[in-house]
Amino acid sequence: MSKFWSPEVRELTPYVPGEQPRERLIKLNTNENPYPPAPGVEQALRDYPLDHLRLYPDPEAAALREALADEFGVETEQVFVGNGSDEVLALSFQTFFRQDKPLTMPAITYSFYPVYCRLYGIDYRTIALDDRWRIPLQALDGESGGVVFANPNAPTGHGHGRRAIAELLERVSDCVVLVDEAYVDFGGETAIPLIQHHSNLLVTGTFSKSRSLAGLRLGYAVGSRELIEGLERVKNSFNSYPIDSLAIVAGVAALRDREHFDACRERIISTREQTRRRLETLGFEVLPSQTNFLLVRHGQQDAGQLFTGLRERGILVRHFNTEALHDFLRITIGTDDEMDSLVEALEAICH
Ligand code: PMP
Repeated sequence: MSKFWSPEVRELTPYVPGEQPRERLIKLNTNENPYPPAPGVEQALRDYPLDHLRLYPDPEAAALREALADEFGVETEQVFVGNGSDEVLALSFQTFFRQDKPLTMPAITYSFYPVYCRLYGIDYRTIALDDRWRIPLQALDGESGGVVFANPNAPTGHGHGRRAIAELLERVSDCVVLVDEAYVDFGGETAIPLIQHHSNLLVTGTFSKSRSLAGLRLGYAVGSRELIEGLERVKNSFNSYPIDSLAIVAGVAALRDREHFDACRERIISTREQTRRRLETLGFEVLPSQTNFLLVRHGQQDAGQLFTGLRERGILVRHFNTEALHDFLRITIGTDDEMDSLVEALEAICH
């Protein structure tokens, strides 16, 4: 606490990201991709003329937005880009959710959402998950200043199909519905095609997970022109150049390599399902997942102790110290070798 902080800053409770350890650990705690980015990314960075770093980047990041528009079959004016989807989310909360009515979100979802609410003074209410840890979309209604959820949800892993999102949008048309698709490429179904008929739908995504570029910080939003224009207004009142020149060329190169993208995500999905079976054999309950992580709990073993036991064996996973999740560990899907080490370590700890 400092007397120099504005009163609002004293009230903040910042988000705490998963640890980025300095020592070499098997890192299964922040849902990064275990495989390298597309080879074209390296080439694009090597080819970039260093002298151009003297200049500011394109404030519109047009090349990247065009590549994303191509990828999703939409117009460039329906695409917004930001410095990681966290930034896109923050700008979205500010642009759309500072309303008289409270924002609605699931009780268990990406824990950054309540942090943005506190930052911007947004009231929110939460909807409990159902008994299978799914978001009950039918409980979300239009009496809100907005609706936000991750689909597939984090850290639970369940995703609703496009049809369920379409049904939600039939009922909720007076406020923005923000669907955070950070994990959609690992088995979910994107809602992006629905933006053509629903001007209140905003879908966000990231290069951090399925494109192996968490360190580059690239995220995006796809929605109607009016939503994107709103985001641009706020962005241009805050930082004209959130995407640096290297991120623009690297992002475009990543989007070009469909083969690499498909190969990596298929490997991750297959490793995930194999890991699920092995953990179940060890007595874990493993929630169904359409993401690159598994949320698991063991009837007899304390999650905190499992976390510590794994850490002592050089394996880092995520343990959320919240009431709803303290029995669980969230385990990112790594390479097959990494998952072998994880299963062996858990075997040793459990026996
Ligand atoms: N949404 C969800 C649901 C996430 O789990 C994350 C990653 N922590 C993000 C958004 C943000 O990812 P990034 O800023 O790397 O795009």
